[in-house]
Amino acid sequence: METLWPQVERLLLGVSKPARYIGGEQGAQYPVHGPGKVAWLLLYPDTYEIGLPNQGLQILYEILNERDDAVAERAYAPWVDMEAAMRAAGVPLFSVEQHVAARDFDVMAFNLSAELVYTNVLNLLDLADVPLHAADRGTDDPWVIAGGHCAFNPEPLADFVDVFALGDGEEIVGEINAALRDWLAAPPPDRSRDDLRLTLAGIDGAYVPALYTSTYGNGRLVATAPNRPGVPAEVAKRTVNDLADWPYPARPLVPLTEVVHDRLNVEVFRGCTRGCRFCQAGMITRPVRERPAQQVKEMVSKGLAWSGHDEVTLTSLSTADFSGIEDTVRDIIDDPVHRGRVSVSLPSLRVDAFTVGTAAQIQKVRRTGLTFAPEGGTWRMRQVINKLITEEDLYSAVDAAFSQGWRRVKLYFLIGLPTERDEDVIGIAELGKHCVEIGRRHSKSVTVVASVGGFVPKPHTPFQWFGQDTVDELQRKVNLLREHARSTRGLTIRWHEPAASAAEGLASRGDRRMGAVIERVWRAGGTFQEWSERFDLALWEEALAAEGLSLHEVAHRDRDGQEPLPWDHISAGLHRDFLWTDWQDALAEAVVEDCRWTPCYDCGACTGLGLEHVVASPIPPAGGSQGTGQDLSVGGRIPVRLVGGVRSVAGTG
Ligand code: SF4
Repeated sequence: METLWPQVERLLLGVSKPARYIGGEQGAQYPVHGPGKVAWLLLYPDTYEIGLPNQGLQILYEILNERDDAVAERAYAPWVDMEAAMRAAGVPLFSVEQHVAARDFDVMAFNLSAELVYTNVLNLLDLADVPLHAADRGTDDPWVIAGGHCAFNPEPLADFVDVFALGDGEEIVGEINAALRDWLAAPPPDRSRDDLRLTLAGIDGAYVPALYTSTYGNGRLVATAPNRPGVPAEVAKRTVNDLADWPYPARPLVPLTEVVHDRLNVEVFRGCTRGCRFCQAGMITRPVRERPAQQVKEMVSKGLAWSGHDEVTLTSLSTADFSGIEDTVRDIIDDPVHRGRVSVSLPSLRVDAFTVGTAAQIQKVRRTGLTFAPEGGTWRMRQVINKLITEEDLYSAVDAAFSQGWRRVKLYFLIGLPTERDEDVIGIAELGKHCVEIGRRHSKSVTVVASVGGFVPKPHTPFQWFGQDTVDELQRKVNLLREHARSTRGLTIRWHEPAASAAEGLASRGDRRMGAVIERVWRAGGTFQEWSERFDLALWEEALAAEGLSLHEVAHRDRDGQEPLPWDHISAGLHRDFLWTDWQDALAEAVVEDCRWTPCYDCGACTGLGLEHVVASPIPPAGGSQGTGQDLSVGGRIPVRLVGGVRSVAGTG
């Protein structure tokens, strides 16, 4: 394959952060392309510094490059200055390793981690000189594949993507590769894209949108159904049963320039059954599957030696829930090989699982940032969203942190949640104020940052039927919160741009018609919409109007239980009636406990998998029932039974 490096190199002196485009990282691979090897370009549709740490992309990069019949390189979205230089010089999108043109690859595979990158996906296809619409691609064009959490409502990108891979990627990537390898082995006159579409549609977890048609009536979606015989009416996600089989990334990428999360990341478990009703990741990645603690320690040890990092993050949706977390952290920090030099950070800390013991372990080497996410400002609000954290939980976690020497704690909240009242918003300021007071018992100079995001309902969650707040209403709530926080020294309020939440809502819950809207926004110059300096809601409103749609229709309107949803033909494993009942429970302020400690709720996630949850803690969770005497069974559909001691709950589905 021809390299574009001479042309690329000429552009680098004139652009910001040229290290984004040169590759050469520790862990970068330079595979030999050739016949019999499917060439994958793995793309993250945001800048290099955002995309490089992405674990999903790094895992697939290694898995593919270990195969005899595949090669994989990477590409990221060039920043606007580089894009302009590339377009002016006629340089197409290229891989960062060997600077091979994107359209010379057999596959362009996008990681979709956030909806506001969708216009960047179109921009990258255009920069690659690949036809934008799947229907216009020919035999010699790359196959455009997309995966990641946003693929669980694939419809807004259905016109542009050939196949979506749903759920865990470790196994399905090999099956798609094998299908492509066999298809590519046939001489061009003997193969058609349609043949491969049908083959791919037969792979579990592969959704080929061209084989489905959406119908509409009275301006609304009626159904999305197969347009060919033999194509499944519903496509279900893939689930890797045992993470121990996939100890990746084993040779993580070590960037040459500054990136976000510049540290070793080791995934300790996948899935979450805490049941937070706003959380798409928690719902679509069920059930919980833990990596064995011994393997975690080995991956940390090898990863640190490989990368030279002095900081490791144990990643998951709720890392403090990991079985024996304190022992694992202690063993890592006390390992004689890197004793005293390695710090451990735990993202997504649950306040009800954060103890002085954990705090003491983490701060042994140096104190990394601490973020807790109570999400709601009052206990009533947290019952609605099923984030069962009491004020006592939060205050004791914050006290543990400040007592162990932290001086700055960040709290994350959502506003615009279902049933929200002004007192719930003001409650955020009250919680923050009390946390500052707790901190002052330990030090005069403490800071509490309350970071506030506007809630966007997501597919496959109990809140998928909720009409999200308008921009004006979110802004009013931000102003209300700031007003109540103003008098508290040491409390800082940060907030997410309400207008961006509106656009995210469009891309999150739109149907196939949203593709034309996204294309209009892109054609009007709307790239990097997740960057506040580039975001422009007016572009989205104009595009909606041109397509006969509105923000109200797509984002701000409640759905009833009968209305077809754009993702009804996609299964995240969750029964619709489970989600609907949970939505009704939310409105009734009724809560459900984590199924790791209770009987199964039959959400559907374990059906047919033969999985068992691994209980994360020998102590029952300190949620509302423990901390406050709240009766968790009130209004719940199954009486909650909190069980002491280690116990496995068989997922019977
Ligand atoms: S099927 Fe039951 S045990 Fe499995 S995740 Fe759902 S509620 Fe939990």
